[in-house]
Amino acid sequence: MLRLSEKMNRLGTETAFEVLARAETLAREGRDIINLGIGQPDFKTPGHIVEEATKALRDGHHGYTPSPGILPLREAVAADLQLRRGVEVNPERIVVVPGGKVTMFFAILMFGEPGAEILYPNPGFPIYESVIQFSGATAVPTPLLEKRDFSFDADAVLDQITSNTRLLILNSPANPTGGAVPRAEIDKLVAGLVDHPHVAVLSDEIYSRISYDGREHVSLLSYPEIADRLILLDGWSKTYAMTGWRMGYAVWPEVLVEGATRLAVNCHSCVNAATQYAGISALEGPQDEVASMVTAFDQRREVIVNGLNRLPGFRCRTPGGAFYAFPNIEETTLDARSLQKMLLEEAGVATVAGTSFGHLGEGFIRFSYANSIENIERALDRIASLLAD
Ligand code: PLP
Repeated sequence: MLRLSEKMNRLGTETAFEVLARAETLAREGRDIINLGIGQPDFKTPGHIVEEATKALRDGHHGYTPSPGILPLREAVAADLQLRRGVEVNPERIVVVPGGKVTMFFAILMFGEPGAEILYPNPGFPIYESVIQFSGATAVPTPLLEKRDFSFDADAVLDQITSNTRLLILNSPANPTGGAVPRAEIDKLVAGLVDHPHVAVLSDEIYSRISYDGREHVSLLSYPEIADRLILLDGWSKTYAMTGWRMGYAVWPEVLVEGATRLAVNCHSCVNAATQYAGISALEGPQDEVASMVTAFDQRREVIVNGLNRLPGFRCRTPGGAFYAFPNIEETTLDARSLQKMLLEEAGVATVAGTSFGHLGEGFIRFSYANSIENIERALDRIASLLAD
């Protein structure tokens, strides 16, 4: 009899991957499935980035690299942070890892243990809660409210901090809501955090480049008051349509860099070498394809939000960033999971139930609009017909 560790029972999953698998099965059976479930750009990685990776392979970059990443890549990240966030960061504080997810895994494992409390957004990216529970820590949800366009209330978050709180996780622009927290709320939160110096902050800014209506991205990195305990998570996946390349980075506070590097050595040694060279080219090369992707997402955002608001029983706030719409579906009288199933099985439209992002996601459903306008319109038509039956 195999005896697994008890913590394996506490590790959750990301339902979006299950929806993707079911959608693919249905497609193989000949069904026409429109995928508004998976959270990845539908664009290809810009050509010059692909070229750089193939060149790196041809040039013989086939071996291990330093665990936190090759220095020119960490320097390129630092230059990008200086350019976009106006903050000078020592490249020694940057640790490159195989995807944004790895930074959250490391940060949560570093702070999580029985007795510790970790605050995380709910509804939010499901891996936060899953890994907090895996670590043995208590997962304390910070509610993101529809009436606040899915921002948190800084005073309410500060009130949840106790002497056992070790880590506060923030995510803006957010998955699954598309919510972008306004500067005033972040200012208030940071001012309050000054009174809680024992709390580290993990700011997941993986959607930092995908903002709309001229909204500037507010980075936690630009607050020197918390620089000694801020872990900034970002990466290439969403910005450069590189989800399958598996690379992300974090800026760690000086005191945590050694621990993060030790975790990397134990876990994966390093990110594959060719991808790291591609990452330099992404940051230093032309950014016009990033701009056109964001313009395309913006156009689709308008189509999907207007369309969802016309569906009976749906009401949808306008998301400020990322590529998700998160309509309230309470008035359909269906629960989120039943509606997700019905949309996939009967209308051939893949979406993800709000409850996949935490219990506060009940009454909502996530649509990823990383798909063509034509497909979004077809999906909306199919849902309208289904709901009319
Ligand atoms: N953080 C958030 C909020 C995400 O939505 C995702 C991916 O969906 C990630 C992190 C993980 O990104 P990566 O694919 O780089 O691991």
